[in-house]
Amino acid sequence: MDTPHGTQIVLHLYRVAWWACAGEDVVNCDVYAVDCSESVVLIDSGRGGPSFTVLKANLEYWGLWDRLSVCLLTHLHWDHAGGAGQLQSEGLRTWAGRGAAAFGKYEQGREYFDGQVPKIDRVLDDGESFDVGEVRFEVLETPGHTSTCVTYIADIHSVRCAFTGDLVMPNGTIGYSGSFDFDAEKLIDSLRRLSHRQFDALLTGHMLRSSQPEGLWMRDGKAHVLETLKAGLDGNWIIVQQD
Ligand SMILES: [Zn+2]
Repeated sequence: MDTPHGTQIVLHLYRVAWWACAGEDVVNCDVYAVDCSESVVLIDSGRGGPSFTVLKANLEYWGLWDRLSVCLLTHLHWDHAGGAGQLQSEGLRTWAGRGAAAFGKYEQGREYFDGQVPKIDRVLDDGESFDVGEVRFEVLETPGHTSTCVTYIADIHSVRCAFTGDLVMPNGTIGYSGSFDFDAEKLIDSLRRLSHRQFDALLTGHMLRSSQPEGLWMRDGKAHVLETLKAGLDGNWIIVQQD
């Protein structure tokens, strides 16, 4: 169901924040919430500030806020992880991949977060699995868009979902390629690794339009990964940054 408060994509999976959800000039990622029964997991925090206010209101609308436990970061760009500190102040733990744990050592990383690189409460290894309530999440390191990128794969209401952050966008496109740690070769390798995994839905960090809550990538997500991989190998990536 599509509402001003977000979208219930399938049972137990919601989109609770998105591009410009707090105003046209407020860049924000798509934030997903997974209802794992006794607790709720967020995929990315959004940028914080005004977006945090919207995020919290939407989570309350869906009855998810009081059961939040963990925020899984796909990568450390500010529109995805800038709100992690605010969520931590509300008691959430922040988990992310090894690349994210190393990010703070870079001067560019400090600039990126205005001096406030999120504190990582748990560092997740490539190939690691963990259970939150009834949902098992798998971690796949997928660097390229940044050095910090990971993909989370989980079965949610019988739909195998890949939360890819900005690694890949629908229709053969990739996300922003201007970061200091963007690496095209690693991106191709990550797409290849992801294409070898089983999943149905591609839950991207942007571009899951509210008007298409069950878009093609919900059923045939891997086709978009393969199309993007082919474009990269052919040297003609199309780069998009927003919905
Ligand atoms: Zn990004």
